Amino acid sequence: MLRKLLGKVEAGRFGRALAGLQAGWQWEVRHRVFVARGVELRGKVKYSSKVYSVSISPKGASCSCDDFINRGVLCMHIAFVAMAELSHEAAERSAHRQVQEVRAGQ
Ligand SMILES: [Zn+2]
Repeated sequence: MLRKLLGKVEAGRFGRALAGLQAGWQWEVRHRVFVARGVELRGKVKYSSKVYSVSISPKGASCSCDDFINRGVLCMHIAFVAMAELSHEAAERSAHRQVQEVRAGQ
């Protein structure tokens, strides 16, 4: 679901979100619930003095920034949250696998 969402983000915004990931933008998640067709997320993206509220669900995504409000497009903050969540999920899977490998080796 998050990968599909990222596929709909325009290239320039995708690039700025990646740069944000690299620059250490913060994703403060307030709500993360796994549902039948994906995940429901709500929280805040923070960097320098900026704060934006982002929410993502299988039904769609929204952000409090001007880009989303004025143009109605998937903005770089939504893209950033999707990237941060995918990265988090990948790290969790990797950690889980390492625990299993340690157990298998005993
Ligand atoms: Zn935004």
